[in-house]
Amino acid sequence: IKTIGVLTSGGDAPGMNAAIRAVVRTGIYYGLKMLGIRKGYNGLVTGDIFDMSARDVSDIIHRGGTILQTARCKAFTTDEGMQKAMSISKAFGIDAIVTIGGDGSYRGARDFSKFGMKVMGLPGTIDNDIASSEYTIGYDTAMNTVQDALDKIRDTAYSHERCSVLEVMGRRAGHIALNVGIAGGAEVILLPEREFDFDKDIIRKIIQGRNNGKKNYIIILAEGVAEKIGGALELSKKIEDLTGIETRGTVLGYIQRGGSPTIQDRVMASVMGAKAVKLLKDGVYNRIISVKDSKVIDLDIDEALAMKKDIDNDLLELSNVLSI
Ligand code: ATP
Repeated sequence: IKTIGVLTSGGDAPGMNAAIRAVVRTGIYYGLKMLGIRKGYNGLVTGDIFDMSARDVSDIIHRGGTILQTARCKAFTTDEGMQKAMSISKAFGIDAIVTIGGDGSYRGARDFSKFGMKVMGLPGTIDNDIASSEYTIGYDTAMNTVQDALDKIRDTAYSHERCSVLEVMGRRAGHIALNVGIAGGAEVILLPEREFDFDKDIIRKIIQGRNNGKKNYIIILAEGVAEKIGGALELSKKIEDLTGIETRGTVLGYIQRGGSPTIQDRVMASVMGAKAVKLLKDGVYNRIISVKDSKVIDLDIDEALAMKKDIDNDLLELSNVLSI
């Protein structure tokens, strides 16, 4: 392998820049030519590809978003699009591609490998919903952003003896909701992975809390649940109508996707980015960089895509114990 292209795909996440920096600098350190591919797989289909030097990734480790920009690319899901991307890759002399993104982006990489490209996947999404990895780049920063917002909401909720419903991102996964719920002392955490009963699990819990002397109530509503039962504003109204407790809904939205990455995201992105390139340099490819038992490992891409992940049951039980 002489030339590696790097791209970010799917939703952006804080720490993607730190990963790009690690990929580019590790490659240059080992004497490889490094190319940046803009806007996910779109750049491969359209030829939006440029040389990257060590200086091109200066001053980005602390910045959210992705300097390569990201996108979802419809063309890349067709054989025709893949063939085009392969021709363009050949024209630029690309021997291998590092994709930073989620499971969807891994699927794209896996399919592209069938056309002869050597691929390597890095987990980048705030949702931590990649089945093969305990941790994804951007997850820690997003949780800290939500935590900061929740602490502020708690201040005002206490002063007014209010109930607060906070809707948080996570797509179809409740990892952000669960962890922030524990860290923020939520009374109720609604996760897409678990069924719940509106009257018993929400209304009764709030009323019992009031009878036990609670002064405020926090409900974390995961995005995957909001999609099914309605958003924070709708849920707030229902709770207020039934309990008589003033209830306010907050939808945090895209604030969760931005911001300067935390130390954990920067370090993990750096370690994972460097590992991806070292493996390619050593002739190992079609792998996914993952975290297992807190260690950074690599997995076969098909094996990684076949894996399943659930939320942490112990944490969920703990939240019930600690919210009495
Ligand atoms: P996030 O979870 O942050 O949204 P993701 O990587 O899961 O990230 P997707 O939108 O699912 O995001 O996928 C990103 C891109 O990967 C798609 O736009 C498409 O170009 C490519 N892709 C996804 N699935 C496939 C597939 N089955 N075959 C080929 N390409 C795919």
